[in-house]
Amino acid sequence: MPTRKPVNPDVNRLDRVVAEARKARDEREDSYRGRALRLFPWICGRCAREFDHTNVHELTVHHKDHNHDHNPLDGSNWELLCLYCHDNEHQRQLDTRPLTRPAERSAGATHAPFADLASLLKRDE
Ligand SMILES: [Zn+2]
Ligand SMILES: [Zn+2]
Repeated sequence: MPTRKPVNPDVNRLDRVVAEARKARDEREDSYRGRALRLFPWICGRCAREFDHTNVHELTVHHKDHNHDHNPLDGSNWELLCLYCHDNEHQRQLDTRPLTRPAERSAGATHAPFADLASLLKRDE
């Protein structure tokens, strides 16, 4: 009997599913990115840095309405941004969002955990 390790079919299938999902995502991104790169000059829309074949992977497609599924073929929703400016663009969006968290936190703090206990003690008097 050969002592070769048996191949686990489940692992192979999972690998294939992951690979296919990754491929589909890459193809979708490639389709609009490739089109955007054909449509626009390879220049960052913010810092005007120029790109060529050696570093074009640092040039990304930004969706102006932040909807990655909104890809009009005329490129009206796309903007080419370098990685750095693309990061900044999204950071800016986060910063302008209203800060709800501190208000939520203080509202939670007004809850008095011993209110029920006090009424229970009172009932025993
Ligand atoms: Zn830039
Ligand atoms: Zn973006």
